[in-house]
Amino acid sequence: MNPADKRSNGELIRLDQVTKRFGDNTVLDHLDFSVEAGKHVTLIGPSGSGKTTILRLLMTLTKPDEGTITVDGQRLFPASDKEVREVRKKIGMVFQQFNLFPNMPVLRNITEAPVTVLGLSKDEAEERARELLDLVGLADKCDAYPAQLSGGQQQRVAIARALAMRPQVLLLDEVTSALDPELVAGVLDVLRDIARSTDITMLCVTHEMNFARDISDQVLMFDSGRIIEAGAPEKIFSEPEQDRTREFLSAVL
Ligand code: ADP
Repeated sequence: MNPADKRSNGELIRLDQVTKRFGDNTVLDHLDFSVEAGKHVTLIGPSGSGKTTILRLLMTLTKPDEGTITVDGQRLFPASDKEVREVRKKIGMVFQQFNLFPNMPVLRNITEAPVTVLGLSKDEAEERARELLDLVGLADKCDAYPAQLSGGQQQRVAIARALAMRPQVLLLDEVTSALDPELVAGVLDVLRDIARSTDITMLCVTHEMNFARDISDQVLMFDSGRIIEAGAPEKIFSEPEQDRTREFLSAVL
């Protein structure tokens, strides 16, 4: 099977019986959860329900206490350091805070990891970075430093930087929450464009319900570390089955 076929069907992310505790606080309790390749899945639910923890587990920023996690059939937990390094290459993440390298111009922010981690030549990495900056509408900002950009522009650079590693999965953690309201639409438009024009798998945590409705194949409603309802966006947003989902949506919509 060639890699393109592999991406177009089947399970890419799988969590089996994953439990995560912080001290006495059991944040995820034997959670089962999977995402099919190429799909866009959005996690919604009240603050503290465990959504970000799932993304952080996938980024290996934190480890489960129990359970298994696989990505593209390869083990992420439990796994050796070597296995983790391999799997991590398949995953890109954009955070609420953009986390750009402040001392590097935009182009270098994007080329740094492809050169040092993937071993691309500087020319190859720059060509790809320029294409991505074009995709996120910042072709003219190659030489700017992060501090010279608006929050929305910095976040679009962070998206380009994540895509430069050619990940199979893009994790998006409340990527517009730290932005001034007038900058949110530009970032969401870029993400809509990426969702439409690429075959990348997306797993998003967002409070932007219209965006979730537009881009998602599936919406998962979380409450206290459990998925209480899952379905197509039309179903979840228009005819939720659970009272808890209805309450949550009426508070945020
Ligand atoms: P959400 O993304 O749904 O708002 P989180 O996954 O961020 O929820 O958090 C779930 C729970 O885990 C919360 O109760 C939060 O306080 C707790 N938590 C998250 N990270 C940590 C941490 N590093 N240390 C202690 N508790 C944490």
